[in-house]
Amino acid sequence: MSGQQSAAAGRPVLSVASEVAPLVKTGGLADVAGALPGALAPLGWDLVTLVPGYPAVLSALGDRRELWWWGGLFGGEARLLAGRAAELELLVLDAPHLYARGGGPYLDASGRDWPDNPERFAALSWAAAEVAMGRAGAFRPEVVHLHDWQAGLVPAYLRAAGATRPGTLVTIHNVAFHGLAPAERLAALQLPGWTFTPEGLEFWGRISALKAALVWADRITTVSPTYARELLTPEFGMGMDGILRARAGVLSGILNGIDTRLWNPAADPEVLPYTTPRGKAANRVRLIAEAELGRIEGPLCVVVSRLSEQKGLDLLLAALPRLLAAGGGLVLLGSGDARLEAAFRAAAAADPARVAVRIGYDEALAHRVFAGGDAVIVPSRFEPCGLTQMYGLRYGTIPVVTRTGGLADTVIDANEAALRAGVATGLMVHPPTAEALGAALGRLAALHADRAVWGRLQRAAMKADMGWSASAPAYAAIYRDLAGVG
Ligand code: ADP
Repeated sequence: MSGQQSAAAGRPVLSVASEVAPLVKTGGLADVAGALPGALAPLGWDLVTLVPGYPAVLSALGDRRELWWWGGLFGGEARLLAGRAAELELLVLDAPHLYARGGGPYLDASGRDWPDNPERFAALSWAAAEVAMGRAGAFRPEVVHLHDWQAGLVPAYLRAAGATRPGTLVTIHNVAFHGLAPAERLAALQLPGWTFTPEGLEFWGRISALKAALVWADRITTVSPTYARELLTPEFGMGMDGILRARAGVLSGILNGIDTRLWNPAADPEVLPYTTPRGKAANRVRLIAEAELGRIEGPLCVVVSRLSEQKGLDLLLAALPRLLAAGGGLVLLGSGDARLEAAFRAAAAADPARVAVRIGYDEALAHRVFAGGDAVIVPSRFEPCGLTQMYGLRYGTIPVVTRTGGLADTVIDANEAALRAGVATGLMVHPPTAEALGAALGRLAALHADRAVWGRLQRAAMKADMGWSASAPAYAAIYRDLAGVG
């Protein structure tokens, strides 16, 4: 039953994720889980990704083989399948009682968390721990790479089993999601009593799957160097800063890359292809037509985002008059918080010639929006890494970002010195307030009006390296340490 191992050319890594692009995606975690295998393969690491058997995953899975069967896994039968989909090697936990549902990976149709989410992802973690120990008929990994709280219980299960185990790495994509469950669910989640202490996975009287990983994983990474530093502070640590300070010696920040094949303005099927700012202009015209806007003289700003408190889009609502007064326009694609959705809809209704709002999730439209916009606005209150500013850079769509997390690590502010040196790639907003954002939008409009300056900004942005060439070796170095390879 070790067919996967013999097929693998490099050293085997089990990656455990609750979403993986392009199969199932709600955010950046999926993009990263989907991109890592391709980025690490040339460095000699073969990542096989364990994901829940959501309907979209099962229907895409080709060449499937059944590796293992559980008679009762958190309330029902489950099978471990191996196969390929979207050029990814996958292990799929087929557990219909947990995953055969409509709605998104975490929420029911009305937008509420599934009440059994703790069990749904405990099952994923349990299966991962069995694979890690070589007990599930699959390959035996040298390293287990966990993503966020949904895989957080893996190190707890491994510790409880006490068996020989591979090294574990957890990547924090967003520390705001703690994976909480009531203390009474401890036994139901197959967690021994000793795990439930403040030094263990207890978080203020509840179980936290994220904390389990932060306490027991061998290494911790997060998705940008600045966020790694911010996480150690009460302001950004969301209650996990204490445990992270205690483990600061094994914590590091590795900047996400983007999938430069999927996000390539020269070969994007959704885009009129371009490699220079000049070639981008036709996409602006097309987006304005698609969004049914009127003539926009100033910067056409775009947003592609979850609508949540984190993303700071209430600041954009407040600063919007400033953008419109400067001749700009806005195209927003997003969904989430009902009040923000309504407020953006109202802004579009009030000025339909200059503001277009599409509520929903639309991957193809997102590509056209990035290609057609002049600037992408990302005013996040905190941002572990952020991908949309990177897409913006690659597409010559100037990012306007707050100075936090990965936004601070990827954008060079267009101050006078940086402009003179030709290295500026975007605009930095600080502090994260509507006033500061309004001022930045005014500055944006002035830069946009100067064709020579704007062209330089766009060229520098498009030249910035947004791929995995720097970050993949940083992951490989951690894998080597964990696998005990020199
Ligand atoms: P987060 O993971 O916090 O949501 P990121 O910037 O890391 O933020 O990743 C968001 C990803 O989701 C990006 O790939 C972005 O393009 C995509 N995205 C967000 N909202 C939408 C939407 N409404 N339609 C299409 N893609 C979206």
